[in-house]
Amino acid sequence: TFLRKLTILLYCILTCLNVFFPNLDFSWSTELEQNLKDVFQLSKFRPLQLKAINLSMSGKDLFLVMPTGRGKSLCYQLPAVCSEGFTLVVTPLVSLMEDQLMYLKSIDVEAVSLNASSSKEHAKMVLAELTDSKAPFKLLYVTPEKIAKSKLLMSRLEKAYNAGRLSRIAVDEVHCCSQWGHDFRPDYKLLGILKRQFPKVPLLGLTATATGSVLKDCQKILCVPEPITLTASFNRTNLYYEVRLKDSNSDDSVSDISALIKERYKDQSGIVYVFSQKDAETVSADLQKKGVNASPYHANMNPEDKSQVHRKWATNKIQVVVATVAFGMGIDKADVRFVIHHTISKSIENYYQESGRAGRDDKPADCIVYFGFNDIFRISTMVVMENVGQQKLLTMVDYCQNVDRCRRSVIAVHFDEVWDDEGCNEMCDVCHYITVDITQHAKDVVQIVELAGSLDEKLTPLKVTEAWMGKGPAKRRKMIQTTTLSRLEVEAIITSLLLQGYLSEDFSFTPYTTYFYLKLGGKAPLLKNQSHSITMKMRRTGLDANTVSTTQQTVQESFRQEAFGCISRD
Ligand code: ADP
Ligand code: MG
Ligand code: ZN
Repeated sequence: TFLRKLTILLYCILTCLNVFFPNLDFSWSTELEQNLKDVFQLSKFRPLQLKAINLSMSGKDLFLVMPTGRGKSLCYQLPAVCSEGFTLVVTPLVSLMEDQLMYLKSIDVEAVSLNASSSKEHAKMVLAELTDSKAPFKLLYVTPEKIAKSKLLMSRLEKAYNAGRLSRIAVDEVHCCSQWGHDFRPDYKLLGILKRQFPKVPLLGLTATATGSVLKDCQKILCVPEPITLTASFNRTNLYYEVRLKDSNSDDSVSDISALIKERYKDQSGIVYVFSQKDAETVSADLQKKGVNASPYHANMNPEDKSQVHRKWATNKIQVVVATVAFGMGIDKADVRFVIHHTISKSIENYYQESGRAGRDDKPADCIVYFGFNDIFRISTMVVMENVGQQKLLTMVDYCQNVDRCRRSVIAVHFDEVWDDEGCNEMCDVCHYITVDITQHAKDVVQIVELAGSLDEKLTPLKVTEAWMGKGPAKRRKMIQTTTLSRLEVEAIITSLLLQGYLSEDFSFTPYTTYFYLKLGGKAPLLKNQSHSITMKMRRTGLDANTVSTTQQTVQESFRQEAFGCISRD
């Protein structure tokens, strides 16, 4: 028994080594590296890929939770190529299956599929090949329905298993097993048969979205006794996310950016992403004029210039690259302290990826995006040819616009991940938003609208804005309370009053056009009540470098306090 204990101990130690030192050499390591480069034409593994592959190659059952687009498929495709026999891949959708088959074909990896639309002849051929030791395919893609309904398939799989040809089972979108997941598929519930019939074959379940309880459920349903779970988090905890408004009338974002770079990011490395090649040139020139050590980078430059800019930036001879999205491939500078978007990205995925070049060394870094009304339409026309281009763009707009939800939670929801509010740790601007009391402001605005009504006049939102800011007729100015708030703040307050029902819309039709006026809303009378108060969440609009960083929050707050009188942190 001593020998047995020793064996168990050794086994445990080796297992630990596997898990914690994924780069240790295994018998398959060389082949893995070689195929990664030669077959998949990739230079290196992404986080968790090698660890997952090594665990699966050593026969462990594994659940891999990783955001969409990070490369889960490689974690069973590469082992398939490096193993004898074939890997069975269960995929919920025929379209996903076809994408993968097409991709594998393009890199010369043999794969076959069985689904409801397979022809009889094709199915017959595939089934025959399952037990043929000379069959060349490395992956067999099936829908769960096939497993559940085709006895013939199961009997052939059993033969293949007995002949040692079934090397691995991959269940893609594994959360579909669980009723508690968001995409339950009844046929997935029957996949437990696989592990019951083929207990010696390692199973790999993959998903971008699964809570612990969903995974527990999947584990039970799939009859996997003790899977290892690897979770790659999308959450880059060291990045501070912030959105700043860009005034469409007078875009001073470049001054703002140069102030940030010269003060907050003095001597620190960063990237400014811009919309177009022309913007790269002009923004870079503007920054240079303001004394920032910046260089442009875009696809239209000649290759030598591009690699020179890249090299100088990598060695800190250039502080900032002002780039289009062409600046992306092969960039892995660890100490990028800021990624500033002069214009929004075309989707959240793109933004996540571009901004994600900040802080690869896991030290704090900032991701700031400037959001301007007009930019929405500039990008919109650019992505017009893309299938879901507009839809994706709107996700980005929503990220910028939404001031009620933590930026991270918007990203998390977008990536279909479960979000826990603790995950931000106040590392985004929204989590620093302040709730301001706008009761007095509401009274001022309501008074303006009321006065107009008594004069039998109708006011457009623009007229209300101007009247309140003291730009209306002199006669009227004397009768109302004007404000010194900025235009953005004034607009935000009026919008909030409209949304909260203190103002409402009053449409007026002419044969030619429809006018939008403001009138008192149903809740306006409540303001007569002394104890009634109104609050709103306010985005920080201070555009100078001193008022933004988390540590300088208090400066911002005292500024607010002056502006709004009463304040409370949310
Ligand atoms: P997921 O299933 O996690 O959503 P995919 O497996 O479809 O992601 O991969 C997404 C993209 O990432 C693919 O284009 C794939 O080629 C690419 N990819 C995967 N692994 C790597 C890697 N190690 N290096 C570079 N690109 C990779
Ligand atoms: Mg996938
Ligand atoms: Zn947050």
